[in-house]
Amino acid sequence: MDAPAGLRNARSEGRLTLEWRDGEQQAISHARLRGACPCSQCKAARLRGAIALVDEAVRLTAIHPQGYGVQLVFSDGHERGIYPWEYLRGLAEAPTVPG
Ligand SMILES: [Zn+2]
Repeated sequence: MDAPAGLRNARSEGRLTLEWRDGEQQAISHARLRGACPCSQCKAARLRGAIALVDEAVRLTAIHPQGYGVQLVFSDGHERGIYPWEYLRGLAEAPTVPG
């Protein structure tokens, strides 16, 4: 899957907006991204049925491109998750109107 044409991180709103190459735009809240962290530690916690208490105030503070996706760094210090593009696309809450 191709990388999106654009990534916009709106920290004050707590949203990451992805602009895909087919023209679709998607916004994902930082709290949702944090709660869906795909690292082995977070995956294991979800498999155990641990209740993921994600602070709504958590913010995405850095984005490191990894080719097939992005490594996301959060304000709670967690930075182990690498989110493939396809995974991000599946996480999007609702498409927004381009432009
Ligand atoms: Zn994680």
